[in-house]
Amino acid sequence: MEKKFPFEDEPNTATFVCSHVLNGERPILYVSHDEDGYWQFLCGGQHTEEDAKIVSLMKAFQLDESVGELAAMDYGKTAERESPEDGWRIRP
Ligand SMILES: [Zn+2]
Repeated sequence: MEKKFPFEDEPNTATFVCSHVLNGERPILYVSHDEDGYWQFLCGGQHTEEDAKIVSLMKAFQLDESVGELAAMDYGKTAERESPEDGWRIRP
């Protein structure tokens, strides 16, 4: 890891990703920083409970380091992008 871990949370913080992201099938296009402090990194598609996977925040960061740009995003905010080439848009 060349890049500094950008989140204030501990690297081993439990974090939700969807199976598509975890398996590398789809890019991360939707990020939520929940009111209760949990991060979610999802592909933006439809999901069932079976698709929810728990990994460390470090693992999620390693899957796509561009999510580090959202490290300062407040609780209760979500961010989206159209594709990995696009910038993140945080919802007001
Ligand atoms: Zn997904």
